[in-house]
Formats: sequence, C-alpha cells, structure tokens
Amino acid sequence: MESKEIIARLERQNYLMEKRYEILKSMICDIYDEVIPQKKVCPICKSEIRCYIPYGTPKLRYHAQCPVCLGAERERLLARYLELHWENLTAHKISQGEPVKLLHFAPEGAFYQHFKDNKNIDYYPVDFNPDFPYHIVKAVDITDIPYPNDYFDLIICFHVLQNVTDEKKALKEVKRVLGPNGSAIFCDNINQELEVTLEDEKYDTSELREQYYGNGQYVRGYGRDYIERLGSVWGRDSIVKYSVDELDAEEVKKYYLRRGEEICIYKKQIES
Ligand SMILES: [Zn+2]
Repeated sequence: MESKEIIARLERQNYLMEKRYEILKSMICDIYDEVIPQKKVCPICKSEIRCYIPYGTPKLRYHAQCPVCLGAERERLLARYLELHWENLTAHKISQGEPVKLLHFAPEGAFYQHFKDNKNIDYYPVDFNPDFPYHIVKAVDITDIPYPNDYFDLIICFHVLQNVTDEKKALKEVKRVLGPNGSAIFCDNINQELEVTLEDEKYDTSELREQYYGNGQYVRGYGRDYIERLGSVWGRDSIVKYSVDELDAEEVKKYYLRRGEEICIYKKQIES
C-alpha cells in the first residue's frame, strides 16, 4: 500500500473516531437529561450543572465537587454564606464607596478568579508557600502578617490553622490586621466525635500525625471545641457559627451540602 493511501486511511479513521465521540457525548447528555432533568446551579461559579462529581480521600464522597469550578461542599457553604450576608459583612465599606479589602489565605481555586475579577474587591490572595499554585501577592506567615493594624475588611482562612503550631499568635495577628467591624471567616477540619481538640507534642512525625490527627501535615486534630479555641483570643461573644445542621433541609438538598460542616465568623467590634 502506498504511503499516501495509508495516511488517507488513518485520517478517515481519525475522522470517524471523532464522529463516534461526538455521537457518544450527545447520547450521554440525552441520558443525563432523561435521568436528571433538573439542572443544579453551583452557588460558587453559578454554572448550570447536571450533577456534582465524586471527590475526596480516603473515602470518595458522592455529589461532592462542581465539575466546572471544582468547589466542594465546604466551599459551597462559604459561597452561600457570602451570598446571603455580603451586604452585612461589607456595609461599613459600601457606605464609603470603597472596595472591600479581602485577605485570603491559601485561596481555594473555586473562589480565586471570582474574587480577583470583582471590581468591588481589593483582593490579597496569600500563602505561606511562595510557590503556591495560584498567583499570590505575597508569601505570608499567618503568625507574622506583614500588613498594618486594621488594614483588612474581610479575612478568609480555610484549612490553615490546623497546620499552624502557634495557633494563638496566628489568631492575634488576624485580629490585629482586621479593621473595626471587619469579619474573619475560619474553617478547619473538625472531628465531631472529639469533644476536646487533640494536640500532643509527642506526635511529632508525619506518621503519628496521620494516625492521631488524620493528616501527616496537621499539628492538632480539632474537636467540637474549635469555636471556643478561636474565642479564647477573639472573645467567644464575637463569633457566630454557620452550620449546615442548622440550615433547612431544602437548602441542604439544593446545594448538596454536607451535614456536620460549619464555618466560624468573627466580627471585630469597635473598641470603646
Ligand atoms: Zn461551580
């Protein structure tokens, strides 16, 4: 067979493969439309999706991740909180006609572009690691934040504190850089079966931390006293909890939220 003939045949096969793929794709979409006629709206990226995809280790969770922005249940909880409380969180800034100064530790990919593109937000994504996968404005150690007192209006810090040895120093720093009436939203992995946070200096190897805290990087395993630990520095009365368990069933079902999850919101009072 001539080489030209071989190439023509391969091109034809390729074309047919692409056609088959297109047909298969449209068949899968038809099946989805039949089985799951009602599309869902992801509260983070606002995309219309047919279903959330499985995600998580070691146990895979169903209906966990948005296939467009990759936001998971906890990020959807934060998105709903921000959507419902944005005016309240930023009222002191909106009234002055100024953008909201937002400090975001270890920014989640699902929110990164959304905050960056928002003209009403002056966005400061930061992380301890200078080689963080998303562009950060500065490498920042939460126990020594390189910004002046009262600088930010809003601070978001998810899954950071559980890796920080000097927890109290970190919380004091957050309080220092947060302006009056500003809010800090915190969330870490909490083991609801633990009444008191597990923390012991002798668990000093990644194997022991994995065994006792559930992750080799963590320096403690938070229990149900998480909010009290934040309150020991910020004042318990200045913190509220936004918990999936307190939301109505419709909301939980609509956004595929996960029972047992919660975020803590600290509001810095104007000191008299
Ligand atoms: Zn999404």
